[in-house]
Amino acid sequence: MQVLVVGAGVVGLAVARAAARAGHDVIVAEAAGAIGTGTSSRNSEVIHAGIYYPPGSVRAFHCVRGRRMLYAYAQAHGVPHRKCGKLLVATRDAERAKIETLCAQAKANGVEGMTMLSGAEATTLEPALNCVAAALSPETGIVDSHALMLALQGDLEDAGGVVAFRTPVTGLSPDRAGWEVRYGGAEPGTLTVDAVVNAAGLGAQRVAAATAGLPPVRVPRLVLAKGNYFQYAGRPVFSHLIYPTPVEGGLGTHVTLDLAGRMRFGPDVEWIDTESYDVDPARAEKFYASIRTYFPALPDGALAPDYCGIRPKLTGPGEPAADFLVEGPAEHGLPGLVNLFGIESPGLTSCLSLAEDVLARLG
Ligand SMILES: Cc1cc2nc3c(=O)[nH]c(=O)nc-3n(C[C@H](O)[C@H](O)[C@H](O)COP(=O)(O)OP(=O)(O)OC[C@H]3O[C@@H](n4cnc5c(N)ncnc54)[C@H](O)[C@@H]3O)c2cc1C
Repeated sequence: MQVLVVGAGVVGLAVARAAARAGHDVIVAEAAGAIGTGTSSRNSEVIHAGIYYPPGSVRAFHCVRGRRMLYAYAQAHGVPHRKCGKLLVATRDAERAKIETLCAQAKANGVEGMTMLSGAEATTLEPALNCVAAALSPETGIVDSHALMLALQGDLEDAGGVVAFRTPVTGLSPDRAGWEVRYGGAEPGTLTVDAVVNAAGLGAQRVAAATAGLPPVRVPRLVLAKGNYFQYAGRPVFSHLIYPTPVEGGLGTHVTLDLAGRMRFGPDVEWIDTESYDVDPARAEKFYASIRTYFPALPDGALAPDYCGIRPKLTGPGEPAADFLVEGPAEHGLPGLVNLFGIESPGLTSCLSLAEDVLARLG
């Protein structure tokens, strides 16, 4: 079968790799000039354990299965990663119950090794931390997302697949033989394939809206939630990832560590109307306030604006968080088409598991 994947982010590449290894002819059409220039290179690079998502949800399933697959893949392919563990902290008594509920939820999701710690036990592990209780998640880690995408692209190419850069998909129409794909770029044209996977991230709704025959009700709304990061000037003071009690729309402004040993803070939640990747230095004030709840010794002047990413959410402020939305022929009735919507966190962690799901839907 000829399969066209729209988007060379971590999810599109994982799907393309799985399809090529299953024996399909695979082309990835990517609007940009390189892999992973979208959300996949603008995140915390955390391998999530599977704590935050309701048991039975699509996110819980793919996060837990995807995390196990990702560690095995990274190990086998020499993708830099580290299982550094994470502390999810309550900084006041009122937050304790929330942390305990999340710890219980994680166990229900099948997350291994989750343990509740007292404030004293947590500060023994992390002396700079202020907290009254914490949940320790030993399975949480970090990964070099770009090295991961390069490894996926390498596997794809080894199995005969290709990535076509600067090839924005502009429309899809069902064709007797499968799907006619229209694309723009320097040399616009059309192509007929048997199946299409729409893994266009922030562009997924645009591609779906330009799909002839797809009922408009199957194109969910897109809500943009920007997450800004600030870098920390100085040597890292934490060896675990530190997450506060989650906030609406995000996991809270946490401590992220990268494999080069740098420490940064983020992401916050900024609801926006149009894509923009500037980080407003004025947001630092709120960062200082929220970080000092768990890291009181954060010095003045230690933060500088860094990068940001945009979560492709399906619900907005004040609404319940949406699940990942993966729709194949069983949902929309069109053979040979799978749409992925709302693949925000933990999409990086889930990519290998999502890829298996998509492949099964293609038949
Ligand atoms: C602030 C933030 C922090 C996050 N932290 C984490 C984390 O720590 N751990 C985790 O597991 N997940 C995290 N995530 C989520 C994770 O980054 C995403 O779920 C994942 O990167 C999504 O990958 P993707 O391939 O679906 O999308 P993308 O990486 O956005 O890729 C989509 C690609 O499609 C291309 N495209 C768009 N339209 C078209 C078109 N018409 N034609 C051709 N190409 C097109 C784009 O150029 C892009 O390259 C975070 C996300 C954000 C925003």
